[in-house]
Amino acid sequence: MTIEWAAIDDAIRIDASVKSKLGQRDAVSKELLPDREEAEASTAAYAKAIDDLQDRLYAEGTRSLLVVLQGIDTSGKDGTVRGVFNRCGPLGVRVTAFGRPTDIELAHDYLWRVHQAVPRRGHIGVFNRSHYEDVLVAKVRNLAPREVIEQRYEQINAFEKHLVDNGTVILKFMLHISKDEQRERLQARLDEPDKHWKFNAGDLEDRALWDDYQRAYETVLNRCSTEHAPWRVVPSDKKWRRNAIVAATVHRTLEAMNPLYPKPAWKASDFKID
Ligand code: ADP
Repeated sequence: MTIEWAAIDDAIRIDASVKSKLGQRDAVSKELLPDREEAEASTAAYAKAIDDLQDRLYAEGTRSLLVVLQGIDTSGKDGTVRGVFNRCGPLGVRVTAFGRPTDIELAHDYLWRVHQAVPRRGHIGVFNRSHYEDVLVAKVRNLAPREVIEQRYEQINAFEKHLVDNGTVILKFMLHISKDEQRERLQARLDEPDKHWKFNAGDLEDRALWDDYQRAYETVLNRCSTEHAPWRVVPSDKKWRRNAIVAATVHRTLEAMNPLYPKPAWKASDFKID
């Protein structure tokens, strides 16, 4: 059976003109991609193909790809990086994790640290959390006045447009998990000693604010899914389905960019190496 990637993409891509209700989106979505073995084989093949395309992007050196990963705690942002970019040479892929802003970062506008981390030409940049935290955690935990946050959606759209107009293609993935799945993943962090380091009591505070976060995400999807940088909501309760969908989307996007090796200004036959 071949996987209908175009249909899957239609199902997960947010059309901003249609109000999106996150609660109506299934975090499992079994029907989209039912077969685990097939999905895993596809992820492995695409991870390799992404590396080949990354090599071309690097050689071409004129454009870049930015992959934004957002999702609540335990949604699998790190796991997605590992699952999708594990075949890429480390030179051309840079992952940036955005945590609580430092004093220096807070002394600047919220996009300052983000702009510095945007991938240079020829690179793939992956954001583990991003500028969207400034309309998510900042909103839910009242870290900035309402009217300040209100202005940010348009500012973010304009910022992303600026990047796109200057040669950066942007892919935005919201890793969507259910509240039950989050409970299991948090519980695993308590039960398994090797996962203790991942446990953070603050995650339970955020879990208690689950509905507020879902609403804040919904607003992001409705206000910041643009033609130049649409959001995709990835059903992420199953890690293998999540990785397969992200890998296929990254691959398709790079293929559409069609980076080309530059033509040298010389012929190989001009040279002789003794
Ligand atoms: P993660 O949970 O992604 O594995 P951390 O444990 O370092 O990584 O958590 C990062 C924390 O930083 C999250 O709680 C997130 O909400 C917070 N954070 C990220 N960006 C901002 C921001 N702009 N303002 C406030 N908090 C932020």
